[in-house]
Amino acid sequence: MTENRSQRVGFWRRVGRALRLRCPRCGCGALFAGWFQMPVKCAECGLDLRREPGFYLGSIYVNYGLTAFVVTVTYVWAMATGRGQSRELFWGMLAFCLLFPLWFFRYARSLWLGMDQYWDPDALKSKDPTR
Ligand SMILES: [Zn+2]
Repeated sequence: MTENRSQRVGFWRRVGRALRLRCPRCGCGALFAGWFQMPVKCAECGLDLRREPGFYLGSIYVNYGLTAFVVTVTYVWAMATGRGQSRELFWGMLAFCLLFPLWFFRYARSLWLGMDQYWDPDALKSKDPTR
């Protein structure tokens, strides 16, 4: 299954598919077989989910960026409201920094893949003329 201009899926639809952990191209295939394990291809449309080596490094930026943003906003809010010295806030933010990226791992990868499919849907087709 290839995607042409008339089948081009909009940005927010791709975001919705990413948040449901579904294939960004067809919206049906599951992106994860377990908590951290991705299938090689989409079971519905055959989209290669492995991409190229290092492709998912970009998802780390998504994950780290959101984690840092939430911690920064929380810290600024805490300092502005006089709760910045709270020991509970410190331990809560530390726990957040450790646990949130683990939970968000799948969503970061899914969003990264969805962004790639949105901005460059034919990238793989140009590398492999048999697709
Ligand atoms: Zn698919």
